[in-house]
Amino acid sequence: MSSDRYSRQVLFPPIGPEGQARLRRSRVAIVGCGALGTAQADALARAGIGALRLVDRDFVEESNLQRQTLFDESDARDSLPKAVAAARKLKGINSQVEVEGIIADATSANVENLVGGAHLILDGTDNFETRYLLNDVALKRGIPWIYGAVVGSYAATLTVLPQRTPCLACVFPEPPRGGHETCDTAGVIGPAVAWAAAIQVAEALKILVGREEDLHGSLLAYDIWRHRWQPVRPQRDPDCLACQKRQFRYLEGQAPTVMRLCGRDSMQIHPLESRDLNLEALRARLEPFGPVRANAFLLKCAIDSYELTVFADGRAIIRGTEEPAVARSLYAKYIGS
Ligand SMILES: [Zn+2]
Repeated sequence: MSSDRYSRQVLFPPIGPEGQARLRRSRVAIVGCGALGTAQADALARAGIGALRLVDRDFVEESNLQRQTLFDESDARDSLPKAVAAARKLKGINSQVEVEGIIADATSANVENLVGGAHLILDGTDNFETRYLLNDVALKRGIPWIYGAVVGSYAATLTVLPQRTPCLACVFPEPPRGGHETCDTAGVIGPAVAWAAAIQVAEALKILVGREEDLHGSLLAYDIWRHRWQPVRPQRDPDCLACQKRQFRYLEGQAPTVMRLCGRDSMQIHPLESRDLNLEALRARLEPFGPVRANAFLLKCAIDSYELTVFADGRAIIRGTEEPAVARSLYAKYIGS
C-alpha cells in the first residue's frame, strides 16, 4: 500500500508519522457491534489500526439498517451475525487491518478472554450490566476503555483510564433504574449515534498515539436535536467499590441467563455453560413445528406467535415475549435445557 493511504491523517501534527506507526501496532476490542460499534469499527479500520476484535451476540435485522452503518439489506435478509457481517465489510474497507469477528455475549465467564491482549476497549453495548462488566475487566487488567450510550437524540460518553481517571462506577455507582428512557420508549436517531462514536473514536486515537494529555476529561452528554450540552467534570469517588476497593462485582458474579433485549420484544437465554449444538439435527427436530431457516451460524424457527433464533453455542433469542418464564419454557421445550 502506498504511503498515500494515511497521508491526510499523518499531516495532522498530533498524529504524524510516529502516531500512525503506533496505530498500526494497536489492538482494539469493540464490545457490541450495533450502531455505536459499527461506527467505531469503520472509523478505526480506515484510520489504520493494527487489529480489531469485534464481539457481538446478535444478528442483523432490517430495523438495524437505519443507523448501523456497516450493514446492508443482504445481511438482514441472510440474518448474518453482526460480528460476521461487520468483519466482512471491514476487510473490504482496509485489508491491512487484522479483523476478528466473534459471535458471543460478553459475560463474566468469557470477558477476560474476549478483551485480553487489547490496548483499548470500546463500548458499543446497549445495557448497563455489560458496561459494568467492561468497567470491572478494564480496571482489573489496567486497560483504558471508553463508555458510550445513545437514546433518542441524546448521547453520552466517558473515557476511563484505570486508576487515573474516574471510572464508570464513580460516576454511576448503581445502574440508572426506573423512569429513564430506553430505546424501547424513545427510539434512536443516527446523528446521535454518529456524535457519540465520533467522540469515542477521537479519544481512542489520542490514547493509541500517546496523547493522553489531549483527552477531554469529562462526562460529555449532548442532545443533538434540542442542542442541550451538558459536560460534567466527574471526580473519583474515594469509596468507589470498583476502582478504589477493587471489588469487581460484575466480573465475579454469574452471568444472567435470561435477559430482555432493548426494543426488540425479545428475550435472550444464555445457558450457563456454552454448548456446541448440532444445528442440522436441531433443524430436523424443529421442522414439524414451523418453518425453519438456517445459515452456517444460526437457525431461526417460527413457532406459534414466537420466533426462536438459536446460535451454535446454545444461546437463543426468543421474540414475541418479554416474560422470562415464557422464554425459559420455550427454550426447554424446543431446544432442551
Ligand atoms: Zn471508580
